[in-house]
Amino acid sequence: MRRIIFSIALLGLFVSSTFAHISLIKGIHSKNHKRQKFSLEKVNGNVYVLYGAGGNIGVSYGSDGMMTIDTQFAKFVPQIKAQLKTLGTDKPKFIFNTHFHGDHTGGNALFGQDGTIIAHYKVRERLLSTIGRDGKPRTPTPNIALPMFTFRNSLSVHFNGEEVKAVHFSHGHTDGDTVIFFTGSNVVHLGDDFFVGRFPFVDLDSGGSVGGLVRNIKKLIYMIPSDAKIIPGHGKVANVHDLMDYYSMLVETTTIVRKQMMEGKTLEQIKAAGFPAKYDAAGSGFIKTGRWIETIHKDFSKSRSMKMRRKMHGKKMHKMKKKMMEKKKP
Ligand SMILES: [Zn+2]
Repeated sequence: MRRIIFSIALLGLFVSSTFAHISLIKGIHSKNHKRQKFSLEKVNGNVYVLYGAGGNIGVSYGSDGMMTIDTQFAKFVPQIKAQLKTLGTDKPKFIFNTHFHGDHTGGNALFGQDGTIIAHYKVRERLLSTIGRDGKPRTPTPNIALPMFTFRNSLSVHFNGEEVKAVHFSHGHTDGDTVIFFTGSNVVHLGDDFFVGRFPFVDLDSGGSVGGLVRNIKKLIYMIPSDAKIIPGHGKVANVHDLMDYYSMLVETTTIVRKQMMEGKTLEQIKAAGFPAKYDAAGSGFIKTGRWIETIHKDFSKSRSMKMRRKMHGKKMHKMKKKMMEKKKP
């Protein structure tokens, strides 16, 4: 079995909050949402996946107790807890957040009463912000739902007989994405950097980047053992082959849009041309084909204009230097 190679050095653990756990926030009530189905399945070793509403929850359960990855929505916590209880407890000691979006952190306030929340420092910053997903306004998250421990590059928790390593990947889905490696169980939770068989959601207003996501997925293909199981942010448990298919799709679709932009085509023309029919299914989920094209277009327009500005700035500096040199001449 190929070993996980971690190239990112451990820089530090920052205890960023000592807020005491206070009583539950008013207004969060658990209604009975009967139509929503929840299920818990074993993935490998100590690790399970909990499917339900919102992002997939990863679960580690063993002699040290329980740890979860993400918390879905507050209103569904009773259903989530009912599933967890089938393993032996519904009180995880540690809760990781893969990023700040509400469908991954919504249950934090309830799980934060009994457990310690850990996330990348950008997740904490964004949970405290008044600007949320897609730049929409949001109410800052209360203390009890915030990560108590934050990190910058990576952090390990030695739990249930294995190293659970959280590694930050910058500017992909958001700017605070974390991938969780269960190194002994051979399972990796990719959060929303991976939507199985679907176009991705890149939250450009929250530090996400199309080019960054493509680079991160390429890096992950090398890092993840070829026989590992992968828990995606959305969709069923997958493997490295599925991740490679996702990577090919990202490369091909971004190249198609970029090429047409270079040829001077408008966004409307690019949308009208679309993608090859083999990607019809990829555009049938949360992110439709049109929206994916808009995201690529918006991100590449931004990076192209930045490149142009840098070029212009470079030319200006060159001219100024030339003038100064001419003045110095006797
Ligand atoms: Zn997300």
